[in-house]
Amino acid sequence: MPTTRSRLRRHLTRLLARRRGSAAALRDLEQLNEVLRFSLLFTLLILLPVVLLALLALRSIQAEEIVVDAGSEQRAEAITIQVQDSLRSLLDEFEDEARASMSDGDAALQQMQAIGLRGAFRFDANGELVSPFVWPGPDDTWPDTTAAYEQALTQATRLDREGGSAETQRAWERATRLATAPAHHAEARLGAARALARANDPRADSALVLTANEFPTLRDRRGVRVADIANTLRADLAERTNRPEDAARIRRGIVDHALAADWKIGFPADGFVAERALEALAGTMDESARKLALDRVRARASQLYEAAALADELRVASKRQGAEGEFVYTPETKSLWASVAWKDGALAFAFDYDALRAELQHHVVDVANRIDSNLSAELRAARDTVDGTLARRSLAPDLPALDVIVRNADPTALITQRSRSGLQRRLVIALALLAVSIGVFAAVRTVGREVEGARAKADFAANVSHELRSPITQIRLKGEALQLDLVYDDADRQAHYDAIVRECERLSRLVDNVLDFSAIERGVKKYTLRAEDLGEIIVRSVEACRSAADAASLKLAVSLPDALPVVWVDREAIGQVMTNLLSNAIKYGSDGKLVEVVCRITVDGAEVSVTDHGIGIGPDDQAKIFEHFYRVQSSEVRRRRGTGIGLTIVRYIVEAHGGTIAVQSAIGEGSTFTVTLPTQPPKGAGG
Ligand code: ADP
Repeated sequence: MPTTRSRLRRHLTRLLARRRGSAAALRDLEQLNEVLRFSLLFTLLILLPVVLLALLALRSIQAEEIVVDAGSEQRAEAITIQVQDSLRSLLDEFEDEARASMSDGDAALQQMQAIGLRGAFRFDANGELVSPFVWPGPDDTWPDTTAAYEQALTQATRLDREGGSAETQRAWERATRLATAPAHHAEARLGAARALARANDPRADSALVLTANEFPTLRDRRGVRVADIANTLRADLAERTNRPEDAARIRRGIVDHALAADWKIGFPADGFVAERALEALAGTMDESARKLALDRVRARASQLYEAAALADELRVASKRQGAEGEFVYTPETKSLWASVAWKDGALAFAFDYDALRAELQHHVVDVANRIDSNLSAELRAARDTVDGTLARRSLAPDLPALDVIVRNADPTALITQRSRSGLQRRLVIALALLAVSIGVFAAVRTVGREVEGARAKADFAANVSHELRSPITQIRLKGEALQLDLVYDDADRQAHYDAIVRECERLSRLVDNVLDFSAIERGVKKYTLRAEDLGEIIVRSVEACRSAADAASLKLAVSLPDALPVVWVDREAIGQVMTNLLSNAIKYGSDGKLVEVVCRITVDGAEVSVTDHGIGIGPDDQAKIFEHFYRVQSSEVRRRRGTGIGLTIVRYIVEAHGGTIAVQSAIGEGSTFTVTLPTQPPKGAGG
């Protein structure tokens, strides 16, 4: 049973034999086998690893891109964690300061400088506000009045403004009688005393003292303490009646009282009264002490104002309970509240949300820049939706309303940079693949040439044998004919002798060529240059080829200039050049046509051209015909015998003489081979 391999071999042989004959087909098959084996090895050892490496490199680029992404996500995550830590350390700082101040007392609490702190409030065990302000009590709300009282009050006020004194006093007394609540009572009494004071009545001072003493806590309808108004009026009166010391004393009393008293949230007048008294004390009191007191009063007044704005949240904060010394943070609409249980009560600290956020934003940007300047971080409301975030973290539990988000600082720049570096790497891989492909191509070509060379060598051996056999056969046939006297007449005998000589010449040309070629190949060929007559060499060569030309029915024409310069050549070698060119012209020329040898003198030396009008040579083959063993692959050429070394020898000899050889040819029109030879003696030429 034939195996698949042998069957394939048989088919291929048959296919090749159709074009190249069966012997050549078998040889080609062997060579094909070699080429295939080489290609397989090449693919396995070089091509496959290179492709695999390229694939691996591509995958690693992709993997690296993923790692880069993961890297920036990790850094983004780190930023959010650090921001949260910054918030914590900000709050830790505040807590430490708060604990120290709590131990130092209420005054220290009011002087705390924590960022964004709007107020510090202390509650007792019952959740009652005790410092720095207190909630208003029942006395502090203005009770409803009756229409009769209001009417009496309106009338008294009008009379007061008109300035009638006895009648005014009566009107105030009527109002006092109609008062139904202590606050109304106090208001009417104060009205009466104020009327006296305005009239500079001597009873005014005692009336004001009585009112102040009788109603130390009650307030008028605008929320100003009646006692404070009475005392202020007293001080003004003393000043008007030239009792400046009394005025100063009373005012100092007002200030002392104001500073000692609990200020009540919602009653800013408690501060204003003291502020006004201090302003009026200018010039009568130590200025620096006055300024200090004024600052304290003003600061406290603005705290009171703040506290009033936060009143509703403060009430909620008072109810919050935490573990002793543990701060609990609660965001409300207006403030962030920090509550802590302390001793028998509790404390609540209000922070300005915006100030805290601004401070934190500062930290956020700092942290982000420190970790990775390609990333940007910002604080956003927890409810905001944000696109393209790398990391997002809530600042809960401290600031649950806020999230820190991290994004690429410039997403487009990052994408461009990434795609650029990806492109560069891919380009490098593509270049590497290209280089390998070129290498593969070159290797395949080299192998192809080697195979071609091997084939040409084999053809050469066959061709030489063939070339040898035909003149030998001819010589033998003619010799035997002469020996057996199988000739018709003397002319025939002569023809036989001529043929024997011609074939011998051909034989010796062939042997010369083979021997020369072998010497050239081995690098041992040497030429002895002498001054020679080129014309004579040409004529002799032409004569030597004449019989062959006759046999091929070709005319040989020689054209020489009148005076030819002497050329420095090896006579035998240049003779061989001429013979080789001429025998090619005869061999590849067309029957009946002309073969011309033309010699010209040029600037550099002499130029000899051999022209035939035969089969011609295609442009592609013109460059190759000087290579050894090369014969044009056409039936026209194959029909003619040859070894493919004639032109190789010609070129070698010409170049060894410092000359050139060129060919001009067109298929079907013929060829001209032109040899140039220098006329100058070469350096070191023998004489
Ligand atoms: P060969 O022994 O084959 O003639 P050469 O080296 O002399 O070897 O020539 C090489 C090839 O060049 C020839 O086989 C032929 O194809 C081509 N050639 C040479 N001279 C001529 C010519 N005058 N006209 C056409 N083809 C030529």
